[in-house]
Amino acid sequence: MVETWHHYSGNMHIHTRYSDGEKLHADIAHDAIQAGLDFIIVTDHNVYVTGVEGYYANSAGRVLLLTGEEVHNVRRKPQASHFLAYGAGKELATYATDPQALIDQTLGAGGYGFLAHPFEDDLSIVDQSDLGWHDWDIEGFSGLEIWNYMSAFKTASARLIDGLHWKNKLTSFLALFRAVLHPERYITGPDPRTLALWDDYLAKGMRIAAVGNSDAHGTPIRVGPFQREIFPYEFLFRAVNTHVLLPEPLSGEMERDRRLLLKAIGRGHSWVGYDMAGKTDAFRFTVQGTKNGIMGDEFQFGMGATLQIRTPARCRIRVIRHGMVVAEVERESNLTYIPSEPGAYRVECLIPYEGHERGWIYSNPIYLR
Ligand SMILES: [Zn+2]
Ligand SMILES: [Zn+2]
Repeated sequence: MVETWHHYSGNMHIHTRYSDGEKLHADIAHDAIQAGLDFIIVTDHNVYVTGVEGYYANSAGRVLLLTGEEVHNVRRKPQASHFLAYGAGKELATYATDPQALIDQTLGAGGYGFLAHPFEDDLSIVDQSDLGWHDWDIEGFSGLEIWNYMSAFKTASARLIDGLHWKNKLTSFLALFRAVLHPERYITGPDPRTLALWDDYLAKGMRIAAVGNSDAHGTPIRVGPFQREIFPYEFLFRAVNTHVLLPEPLSGEMERDRRLLLKAIGRGHSWVGYDMAGKTDAFRFTVQGTKNGIMGDEFQFGMGATLQIRTPARCRIRVIRHGMVVAEVERESNLTYIPSEPGAYRVECLIPYEGHERGWIYSNPIYLR
């Protein structure tokens, strides 16, 4: 099939000094350009910042910076249930106390809403409680943030410390500090609880788009006696990103480009890639049959529809339908699969990195109804 799609990579969960991040928009945009990203969406806590959207450029290239918002109820204990809103074009923090109203207001305004880091563990040694999603009586949201780098690091660190044989405060701090120096050794993939939730929703016939992000703050932290600026923006922009395929190229015209990007993100014409383990730009997941399409597309099921997966390097490729692996190959860069029943089919790729096989690519589903 002739390639008619245009690929762009971005990061859509970022904090600035308007909430608890370290840098301002222009500096973060330059970090994104250095990391090779095409777009970023800044999502400060409970503040919708206006007047900063647009293309930012330097000698290395340009990046489209858009504004979203990460909303949560600050009076809630713990301050869980963080909601990522994109494209609503208005302040949403006023609806923070009612998660359903927040979803309805976001989508009602033409935006898209995702549950941020739905599952994580307490990291009690630094007084970080679990900030996963706790308010499950909701409907109508666009999707899940299936992989949040900082949240995954928090959970991995909590488990590392829990697993220590000699559990005292100093050994725990030292373990955490070691992990902070080399986070890539501890990041294995999305939280399995989030993937299971996603598969459950898909099995119920829902359309649930997935995104993956950094949650970059650029914050210096103290780990016991040590202080260090950990997780700089640029480092995180080379880690877990969302890759989209657009039917037309970005033109440089901001309003138009914003519309194209957000639609692709909301519809799930995208995948989550752990680019630190290997660039995922050339990944493709398509369906061919009476109609041709890509991840995020929805077609009536017909015999002969063929799913095709192409990866940028040899890896383990799995096709998953409603939580069940229906096809799997090892050390391949292609897989063709002919589904025998309707359903939502998604793809996972795993690759060896830093001595272990790790999650690499998580595609949005192709929906065969
Ligand atoms: Zn959050
Ligand atoms: Zn955040």
